[in-house]
Amino acid sequence: MIARKVAIRNTYMGKLPHGVDLLERITDICRENHIQLGRIEAIGAVKKARVGFYNQKTREYEFRNFDGDFEILNLTGNVSLKDNQPMVHAHITLADREGRAFGGHLAAKTIVFACEYIIEDFSGNALERGFDAETGLPLWKE
Ligand code: ZN
Repeated sequence: MIARKVAIRNTYMGKLPHGVDLLERITDICRENHIQLGRIEAIGAVKKARVGFYNQKTREYEFRNFDGDFEILNLTGNVSLKDNQPMVHAHITLADREGRAFGGHLAAKTIVFACEYIIEDFSGNALERGFDAETGLPLWKE
C-alpha cells in the first residue's frame, strides 16, 4: 500500500484552446510548469473522443473512438512520473445529447471543443510508475 502525505503547492486554473488534443495539452501544461505530482479535473465539451477499457484477462487496453459532439461531465486524473517524465492518468465521463453517460480511460485523440481545467500541483516526493506484475499495468512503486 502507498499513502503519501502531500500538500497543494500551486493551483492552476484555465481553459484549453479549441481543437487541441485534451490529454496531450494537459500533459504539456504539467511539463511546462514542472508539475510531477498532482490532481486534475476538467469540464467542457469535445468534438470527438477516444477512451480505453483495460481488459483484465488479456491485460491490454481496448480503445474505442466516439465521433461526434459530447459534453465532458467529468474528467478526473492525477499526475505522477513515468520514465522520469510527468504522466497524466485521467478518466473521463462524457454525455451525448440525450444525456446518456459513458466514458473510460482518457486516450490521445480526444479533441477539445471547449475545456475548463483545474490542476493542483502537490509538493512531496513524486510517485514513480513501474510495471506491476499482478495487473500488467504501470502502477506506482513503493
Ligand atoms: Zn486508467
